[in-house]
Amino acid sequence: MTNIRILGTGTSTGVPTIGCTCPVCQSTDPRDSRLRTSVLYQEDNTRILLDCGPDFRQQVLPLRFEPLQAVLLTHEHFDHVAGIDDLRSFSYRKELPIYTNELTAIHLEQRMPYCFVDKSYPGIPKLSLKEVEAHKTFSVGSVAITPISVMHGDLPIFGYRLNKMAYITDMLYMPEDSFDELQGLEVLIINALRIKPHSTHESLSEAIQVAQRIGANQTYLVHMSHDIGLHAQVEKQLPKGIFIGYDGQTIEY
Ligand SMILES: [Zn+2]
Ligand SMILES: [Zn+2]
Repeated sequence: MTNIRILGTGTSTGVPTIGCTCPVCQSTDPRDSRLRTSVLYQEDNTRILLDCGPDFRQQVLPLRFEPLQAVLLTHEHFDHVAGIDDLRSFSYRKELPIYTNELTAIHLEQRMPYCFVDKSYPGIPKLSLKEVEAHKTFSVGSVAITPISVMHGDLPIFGYRLNKMAYITDMLYMPEDSFDELQGLEVLIINALRIKPHSTHESLSEAIQVAQRIGANQTYLVHMSHDIGLHAQVEKQLPKGIFIGYDGQTIEY
């Protein structure tokens, strides 16, 4: 049994955006409130966190505490890594591995030397950075994980495939061979920033096109800004099998 919990579905600012009075930011539908994008994946006794943004603490506090076996980071932008210091409780007894690409590892060592370089500070999270490469599958417990190469504008970043689920965020487009690694998915989680095109993220129509080509049984959209529109309205316009994700949504298969 696989259980996926979408912890956040918002872009870097979150929704509502601070200071904004648009109808989406003022909506009373809880599905229009979006913390920064992150996903918790559980299969058997293996629990893996995908991205760890500034809302991580708020996202896990309401959940029953259970250990994590690994964290996978897509890239070094703040909305995907700012919660790493709050991994303390998850690494108190045992070192927690963080898998990511080389550039993200370099940035984290520079930004958080007390976690990754200077090991003497008391109480710090016990984390180990593991650099992994696109196309090279590794395992955590029973989960086979393949980093997928995707482009965030000009910046090459990772998506991840975990058995029959793939998580792709902050993508504008992906190289052809990445599509080959996304065949036979049950669940695809993919970014859709807003209606209009953007220079570093897919728009809604681009995300739908890519999702239809990948052809997962179920696709959930994440990393949305307030410009995506009201959840209740966007939901009605989506093709069969494609859903607009919301914070706290759980998917089981
Ligand atoms: Zn982002
Ligand atoms: Zn980004």
